[in-house]
Amino acid sequence: MNKFNIENFIKVLKNTYPDATCSLDFKTPFQLVVAVMLSAQCTDERINQTTPELFKRCKTIQDFIDIDLKELEKIIYPCGFYKNKAKNIKLCANQILKNFNGVVPNTMNELLTLAGIGRKSANVILLEVFGIANGIAVDTHAKRISNRIGLSSESNPEKIEQDLLKIIPKEYLKDVNHLFVWHGRKTCNSRKPLCKNCSVKEYCNYYNSKSSN
Ligand code: SF4
Repeated sequence: MNKFNIENFIKVLKNTYPDATCSLDFKTPFQLVVAVMLSAQCTDERINQTTPELFKRCKTIQDFIDIDLKELEKIIYPCGFYKNKAKNIKLCANQILKNFNGVVPNTMNELLTLAGIGRKSANVILLEVFGIANGIAVDTHAKRISNRIGLSSESNPEKIEQDLLKIIPKEYLKDVNHLFVWHGRKTCNSRKPLCKNCSVKEYCNYYNSKSSN
């Protein structure tokens, strides 16, 4: 896709989903860190149902360090992979307190030192907490849409991110992070994409290859 087309593609998506934002509920930076850690293999809806009890029980980073592991596991059980997630949440809280004076760091390299935080999660934290959009959080939606549209033929999220960063102008990175998630949830579903109603079908390799058969 050339520069003209990619800008139009993004503008069409923006018109389609004018309210696209992060759908995880949080009030403090560390609450978002916890929410993104819970988000592996879990829906935002389920996370938002689980975190009110958790954030009521743990109001500070110290509370996450102090809470008994078993109690934490029980609270976050509905989000799946609760043992691993609970262990990482406690470890991450410890690291932030010890290594960053209790303040969630605001650089990719620092965030990547935290337990349970990979590039995708770090991109979400940088964008939603600090308003920094230097990268793209390539989750399952961004991966699927990038492959179907033809923005990247890679399967590795980091390689897809690099492909996207080469073609998407920086001023659109913030929007794109939200738009891919919304488009993936509402239209470009993994099993049954709603191609006929899709506002960006004219840009899509998947759609065009099917309709030419
Ligand atoms: S045309 Fe279909 S496959 Fe292509 S982006 Fe739209 S919904 Fe997804």
